[in-house]
Amino acid sequence: MTYVLTEREEQLIKKINRLRKEKNAIILAHYYQRGEIQDIADVVGDSLELARKAQKTDADIIVFAGVRFMAETAKILNPDKKVLHPNPESGCPMADMATYQALKKMKEEHPDAVVVAYINTNADVKTLADIIVTSRNAVKVVKSLDAKKIIFVPDKFLGSFIAKQVPEKEFIFWEGFCPPHFNLTAEQLLELKEKYPNAKIAVHPECNTSAVEIADFVGSTSQIIEFATTVDADTVIVGTEVGLKHQLEKINPNKNYVFPETADYCGIVHCCDMKKNTLDKIAEVLENETNEVVLPEDVMEKARLPLERMVKIV
Ligand code: SF4
Repeated sequence: MTYVLTEREEQLIKKINRLRKEKNAIILAHYYQRGEIQDIADVVGDSLELARKAQKTDADIIVFAGVRFMAETAKILNPDKKVLHPNPESGCPMADMATYQALKKMKEEHPDAVVVAYINTNADVKTLADIIVTSRNAVKVVKSLDAKKIIFVPDKFLGSFIAKQVPEKEFIFWEGFCPPHFNLTAEQLLELKEKYPNAKIAVHPECNTSAVEIADFVGSTSQIIEFATTVDADTVIVGTEVGLKHQLEKINPNKNYVFPETADYCGIVHCCDMKKNTLDKIAEVLENETNEVVLPEDVMEKARLPLERMVKIV
């Protein structure tokens, strides 16, 4: 479905293009961002791709169109660059479910455990992690660890998905979850399957276990793109945030991508926080260089170590 820009949006895009050239800025956008933002981004990707790009860029300014922990990650990996977050109110409810104090206490209770933190954590929580993972590399990274006992924070559904594939390790799960993915049930997917009997089902591992168990494929956003655009099926039922539809249709418009829907704006599977960034806000931060991500030096130093450990493995 092609999105038609309004005249105002076209003007904003012209302004953004002029400013990014003048200021040697780069715009990084997550797959869950609005379609018009994905279209103007220099790089669109999942958390791992964006983290890597952030580390390699020679731009002076990084505008990060994603939620707060992603902009923080870009800053941690690029302490000397100016990282601008278009809307600082765009946070991640799941990341906020893990707090520094509570994780510190859990670590003290399990001194023999290694802390594996999903990249969807706030910067202070990352400082307590031994290693960071993304949904794409989590199984590989966890398998590579020497430790027998793992504290996995904050997504209990991604944690249990990993645990099933790494049965030799013992897991302690945090009670966190992604509200939009959690709300998607196996029943909703099976209803769609009745409507599209030849369809394949692909879901993100942040979905609740019932949805994961009936899927034909479980993977990160990039892995879902690869599967959905190449699998031998005309229709793919996709269980992840609806922003991904934009990329799927761009990459292979010959297929039908069906996303579960609800009447609520913030329903299944729609992340309101991801949608808080807009073209207006990108133009504004580029023009005024506002909403800069600022983190204490010691937090950045400590949080960088587990991030760099991950980047070395994958
Ligand atoms: S989709 Fe879920 S994990 Fe991603 S930012 Fe939104 S609430 Fe957080």
